[in-house]
Amino acid sequence: MTTAVWDYLPEYEAERADILDAVDTVFRSGRLVLGDSVQGFEREYAERHGLRHCVSCDNGTNALVLGLRALGVGRGDEVITVSNTAAPTVVAIDQVGATPVFVDIRAEDYLMNTDLVAAAITERTKCLLPVHLYGQCVDMAPLTALAAEHGLVVLEDCAQSHGATHHGRIAGTMGDAAAFSFYPTKVLGAYGDGGAVVTDQDEVAESLRRLRYYGMEKQYYVTSTPGHNSRLDEVHAEILRRKLRRFDDYLAGRRRVAARYAERLSDTDLVLPAITAGNDHVYYLYVVRHPRRDEIIERLRGYGIELNVSYRWPVHTMSGFAHLGYQAGDLPVTERLADEIFSLPMYPSLPEDLQDKVIDALIEVLATL
Ligand SMILES: *Cc1c(COP(=O)(O)O)cnc(C)c1O
Repeated sequence: MTTAVWDYLPEYEAERADILDAVDTVFRSGRLVLGDSVQGFEREYAERHGLRHCVSCDNGTNALVLGLRALGVGRGDEVITVSNTAAPTVVAIDQVGATPVFVDIRAEDYLMNTDLVAAAITERTKCLLPVHLYGQCVDMAPLTALAAEHGLVVLEDCAQSHGATHHGRIAGTMGDAAAFSFYPTKVLGAYGDGGAVVTDQDEVAESLRRLRYYGMEKQYYVTSTPGHNSRLDEVHAEILRRKLRRFDDYLAGRRRVAARYAERLSDTDLVLPAITAGNDHVYYLYVVRHPRRDEIIERLRGYGIELNVSYRWPVHTMSGFAHLGYQAGDLPVTERLADEIFSLPMYPSLPEDLQDKVIDALIEVLATL
């Protein structure tokens, strides 16, 4: 048996009765799409963020696509973001016909270096798209100030940061709108795909509701194009509602796992995650750094431990984005760190003996590199 960075089965065993009851509730409700569970989840998720609206959809990538479109971002517009992110951030920008513009990250927390954003703004810039990567937030004050000064919209990519806070504010409440993914591995995960956009702006929410429903204003009457069919299924919405009630326990579980790593690995020469001032980390991923990353991963494989790299290839270096015209060396910090970072197993129900197996193996490997 290999130890993986993520596994949902221990959680399913613990919550099985409730998950199956959620499925049964939906299947017996007589309504499989856009029914009570979707409405209930949207209301509860919006409330949790202290916002007026949550519009759910079928995945996080489409949450970004719909979010961009609802904020008026499209062909010819430039969107400033980072290259150290999950590729879907950039796929979504490309999907709406806009051009991603990358700024470098900070070595300390792997997040957007907001000092570089002003210089990246042009006549065509329309949107700032910070990615709250790994579970903590980008420094938002400089971004909202620049957005106000230049008339830009801000869309937060919260796919990795459900429940994270920044100077006391919850991720997803600091821009014009925010996109979430409920992909199973995420901090709040469905049993399949799911996503949502949250916003306080009524018009943006109305636009989102149309966009996810073929561009229809009312049944069978299209008022906006291009439309999408991008709905969250009732069954995932009901499961998400149940899991939302346990959300604080999941965060506590992640923090417990992180604390154990920090305690037992602090004497090694791994660079452990740093929490930036004002942030509360939810540890979607536990990302560490070492110059001999690839050797460490290879040796751990010999112990039956499979580690992950998020992300090995910065988006601007991918062949699919060659048309953007970036060269190796354009984003030096992003490129250097991509060769050194790797992720340790992280999920709330990670059994302690498995975590210790990983820690013991790491300590042994690091001592004999
Ligand atoms: C997971 C993820 C997405 C995409 O979400 P899906 O639900 O997989 O489409 C977008 N951005 C980031 C940062 C992610 O981690």
